[in-house]
Amino acid sequence: MTSGKLVVLSGPSGVGKSTLVAELLRTCELPLELSVSWTTRPPRQGEIDGVHYRFVAPETFQTERQSGNFLEYCEVFGRGIWYGTLLEPVTTGLKAGKWIILEIDVEGARQVVQAFPDAITLFVQPESVEELERRLRARNTENDAAIARRLEVARQELAAAHWYTHQVVNREIHACVNSICDILNSYRDH
Ligand code: 5GP
Repeated sequence: MTSGKLVVLSGPSGVGKSTLVAELLRTCELPLELSVSWTTRPPRQGEIDGVHYRFVAPETFQTERQSGNFLEYCEVFGRGIWYGTLLEPVTTGLKAGKWIILEIDVEGARQVVQAFPDAITLFVQPESVEELERRLRARNTENDAAIARRLEVARQELAAAHWYTHQVVNREIHACVNSICDILNSYRDH
């Protein structure tokens, strides 16, 4: 039976991961599929339940967690906001030969690699922390305190980046997508 690959993509909030992944799915000729995470944070404007995230109540999240149904989960920015990846859709996708992309934080990535040591790990770096801050502010979705919290977590994540097998810098979206696609293609015959 064919079996797909698990791809873990991390990088600080605001680095442009969602745009990169959307472009990657559109242009990279591999059977890629994005795993839809669960979160207890409210949807931003334009975010669709089941597409960008499964937006769930904290109690629903905790019930799944206690049942051991998550491959990984994490309280990403403290303050009771949880994010997680359900195990079952991942194993089903892999069995079907898909390359499943997990867009998750560093702590979640560690949990995934423990369970799937062959996972391909990529970290997206910003050009600079200043550029990251500029992007977070331009997004205009979080207040000052939330942005400060995201930047603090971003600094911690950047400090953990060396642990990933591959590093890419998001200077220019298309170049970055191409290098991610090249990296993934190098695993084709593994
Ligand atoms: P945002 O709230 O901006 O959509 O996402 C915040 C952070 O949560 C992102 O940096 C992203 O990597 C992380 N994240 C999203 N989904 C998951 C998940 O399922 N698990 C973990 N551990 N982190 C996630």
